[in-house]
Amino acid sequence: MPQRATKIVATLGPASSDPDLLEAMIRAGVNVVRLNFSHGAAQDHIERARLVREASQRAGREVAIMADLQGPKIRVGKFAEGKVVLVPGEPFVLDAARTEPGDERGVGLDYKELPRDVKPGDTLLLNDGLIVLAVDQVAGSAVHTTVRIGGELSNNKGINRQGGGLTAPALTAKDMEDIRTAMDLQADYVAVSFPKTAADMELARRLCNEAAASIGHKPGLIAKIERAEAIPELENILRVSDGIMVARGDLAVEVGNAAVPGLQKRMIRLARQMDKVVITATQMMESMIVNPVPTRAEVSDVANAVLDGTDAVMLSAETAAGKYPLETVRQMAAICEEAETTEYDPLEDDFIGQTFQRIDQAIAMGALFVAHHLKAKAIVALTDSGSTALWMSRHNVMMPIFAVTSKLATQRKMTLYRNVRPLLADTSADRDTALAEAEADLKKRGVMQSGDVYAITVGEPMGTPGGTNTLKICRAA
Ligand code: PGA
Ligand code: MN
Repeated sequence: MPQRATKIVATLGPASSDPDLLEAMIRAGVNVVRLNFSHGAAQDHIERARLVREASQRAGREVAIMADLQGPKIRVGKFAEGKVVLVPGEPFVLDAARTEPGDERGVGLDYKELPRDVKPGDTLLLNDGLIVLAVDQVAGSAVHTTVRIGGELSNNKGINRQGGGLTAPALTAKDMEDIRTAMDLQADYVAVSFPKTAADMELARRLCNEAAASIGHKPGLIAKIERAEAIPELENILRVSDGIMVARGDLAVEVGNAAVPGLQKRMIRLARQMDKVVITATQMMESMIVNPVPTRAEVSDVANAVLDGTDAVMLSAETAAGKYPLETVRQMAAICEEAETTEYDPLEDDFIGQTFQRIDQAIAMGALFVAHHLKAKAIVALTDSGSTALWMSRHNVMMPIFAVTSKLATQRKMTLYRNVRPLLADTSADRDTALAEAEADLKKRGVMQSGDVYAITVGEPMGTPGGTNTLKICRAA
């Protein structure tokens, strides 16, 4: 069992769809596989999900599947030649009514509302900020701009407005269709792109739960924070989501590069305070798309996200389309492990002034406190919904949390939680039998030896969600 606490999310793509390679990537440390719904049809995703489940079974390691919805990414239309080169100082027209293919003077838009959302003086950033246009005037359906920073612009590149403020609704018709596909393949997490408010996330949750009602599946919902408007709404969005993604790609374009590191720290802190999970994403090992080793800056970026307290670090093109997908996972895992050993442990502060409304939450914190002060070998949580393990994992303890559940869906969901090692076991027996079996299981796995002290939490009666009410300190037989 790996000692790494930080989890790795890897995006599946052409570079990682070979079954043996995928299996090797899971063995090397991938905990969550991201299916990017911006590419491919429903049947492709269903096929990919099957590939993931099979590879995970062969590797003997459970992974979660995260369906990442495309969202209302605002894009330019297509060009007659596939692309054009924009020259600084030249005019360029974005026209919602244009039906013929684009050229160096202008192009159509898939998002028809853009002319309504922008005004003279605005700055538009295309292709993740590589091209910059200044808005001169809006005339009907046409946005007249001057090229500030030019370069190559190809079909369907994204458009952001500096400072945010584009009004596209968070869930498109395609997203709604994709939610049904994601529920068919029982995605453990659904990531919602470009939400602006809590209402966007509530709508996504309702659609997921409706689509999966017949199978009783309930995915975790991740809000991708990548719009300027989402920042003041962060607390409200977190309250109705299971977690957030620090989606640095689009976010940087909207709020400016320099604002992102500070926002990342704030988002991670707030998510943990609110008992939610957080994924740090985009360009973490970018140079490994083409190189066999990361840059020093990338090593620091991954390590700093770990030190910030992120649950997971994410790989996008590195594993989807890169030359070294397996090596990237290996190196990322090694960076995380090393960073975790340098972690300062401020656990004591977490107990100051704490009050709890819930018994199960108080037991979880009690287990942390005792295990920490006893320098226990491990904390073990028998859990039905996974919440005990989640609460425990919001604090830095220098010992692993083993979360034992009888539910496969809970086991998979917990693969994202920092420092939680999810285990599947039958916990339906009476309490004392279940406790003894958990200990025997951990000894068999080699994570516990005779004489080791550990803390274990359990509920009575067994198998009731939210029923944790007992903390026991044990010495392994
Ligand atoms: P994307 O989201 O990769 O789907 O664009 C992540 C980001 O914007 O950082
Ligand atoms: Mn994005």
